[in-house]
Amino acid sequence: MERPFNFSAGPAALPEAVLQQAAAEMLDWQGKGISVMEMSHRSRDFDSIIMQAEKDLRDLLAVPDTYRILFTQASATALNAVIPMNLAGKGPTPPIIDFVHTGVWSGKSLVEAQKYARVNVAASSELSHFNTIPPQASWQLTDRAAYVHICSNETINGTEYFFTPDTGPVPLVADMSSHILSRPVDIEKYGLIFAGAQKNMGMAGVSVVIVKEDLISHALPVCPSVYDFSSLSLHHSIFNTPPVYAIYICGLVLKWLKEQGGVPAMEAAAVRKSALLYDCIDASSLYANSVDRSCRSRMNVPFFLQDASLEDAFLAGAEKNGLLQLRGHRSTGGMRASLYNAMPVAGVEKLVAYMREFERTH
Ligand SMILES: *Cc1c(COP(=O)(O)O)cnc(C)c1O
Repeated sequence: MERPFNFSAGPAALPEAVLQQAAAEMLDWQGKGISVMEMSHRSRDFDSIIMQAEKDLRDLLAVPDTYRILFTQASATALNAVIPMNLAGKGPTPPIIDFVHTGVWSGKSLVEAQKYARVNVAASSELSHFNTIPPQASWQLTDRAAYVHICSNETINGTEYFFTPDTGPVPLVADMSSHILSRPVDIEKYGLIFAGAQKNMGMAGVSVVIVKEDLISHALPVCPSVYDFSSLSLHHSIFNTPPVYAIYICGLVLKWLKEQGGVPAMEAAAVRKSALLYDCIDASSLYANSVDRSCRSRMNVPFFLQDASLEDAFLAGAEKNGLLQLRGHRSTGGMRASLYNAMPVAGVEKLVAYMREFERTH
C-alpha cells in the first residue's frame, strides 16, 4: 500500500520505517515473547530502551553532561504548570517570570504560569497578529526573574526564532515542541528545553525535558512529586510507571534520525522543503502567508486562499491526491502544512504541484 502524505500539525506523521519496526515488534519485542506495552518498567529490557533513547537524544542534540534529560507523562500543556512549579521556588516571593508572547502557545503558557508567579510580558507580537518575533532589543526583561519563557516555534501562528536570545544570568526556557530535532541547538544557552513528542519525536503520551542540573532543586512546595524534576532526575525518569510504549516509539524515531544523518541532515531537508512551499505561495496570486519573512517557520506553514470559498474544494482535491490534514487550526482558519522531519521532500513536491494545478484550474 502506498501511504498518503500527512501534513498534520500533531499528532503528526511518523517515519514509515518506525511504524514498520513497531508493527514487527508488536507481539514479540526482540525475541522476548512479549510486547513493550506488557513489560515491567523496572525490567532490564525496558531499562535498555529508555537508556538508549536518552543516549541517542543526547548525541543528536549534543546535550552536555551538565544537563539532565527527563521523560515525563506531562504533556507540553501540562508542563506550562510543571515548569513554573519547578523553577520558581528560588528568588523573590512572589516569583516573577518573564514571557515573550508570540502566539497561541506562549499565550497558554503565560496564563498557566500566573497561578504560580507574577508574569511579566517582556515583549509581545499580539498587535501584529503574531506574524513576527519581537527583536531582543525591544524586550523589557526583569532582573530578578526566575526565568524567561519563549516558544521557539509557534505551531499555529507559523513563526520560528532564528536567533538565540541572550538572557544573561536569567535562565532561558524554550518550548520547542514543534521544531525540536529539526536544527542544531546551542543547549548551553538554555536553562531548560521542553517538547511534547507527538510532533517531531514520536507519539502522544510523553514529553522530553532537557534541564540544566543546577536548576532542578528549586521546586515550589506545591509541586507534585511525580512532576518534581529532582525526583524524576534521581529516578532516571522512572519515579512512577512511565509511558513505556511512547518512550519506545520515541527511541525508534531517534534511532531513525541518526540513520538519516542526524540533526544537520534534518535541517538541510527542512530548509529545502520549506523553501519549496514558501516559493510556491509567494509566486502565486491565490495563496498567501502573512508571516514576516525573517521568522517564517520551517516546520509549520499556515497559508490562506485569497478566495476562502475555494477552501473546501482545495482540501477535497488534496485528499484525493493523497495529501492529508491540510486544514488550518480552528483559531486561524485557512490551511496549514506541517513539514516535520518525517515528511519527505517528495511530499512537499507533490503538494506544490497540486497547489499550482489547483490555482491554474480555479
Ligand atoms: C502541541 C504544542 C503544545 C501542546 O502539546 P499537548 O501535548 O497538547 O499538551 C505546546 N506547545 C507547542 C509549541 C505545541 O506545538
